[in-house]
Amino acid sequence: MYYRHSGARLEDFQDPGGNSALRKATKHNPRNLPCPTCGKPNRLTPADVRAGYQCDACADRAERGY
Ligand SMILES: [Zn+2]
Repeated sequence: MYYRHSGARLEDFQDPGGNSALRKATKHNPRNLPCPTCGKPNRLTPADVRAGYQCDACADRAERGY
């Protein structure tokens, strides 16, 4: 089990217990923004973008170094 410690509470994550750092999409935080890295639409919420995140696929690539 691996958590990124960014000061967010567990329930803020879309996938508690998983390895995604992305925020959960809500009515006030819709997942309607493209990933800045791969450009795929509807990958990130405004909270994700404010935190400087990219989508899970890009984050995995970046963390694994390939
Ligand atoms: Zn991406």
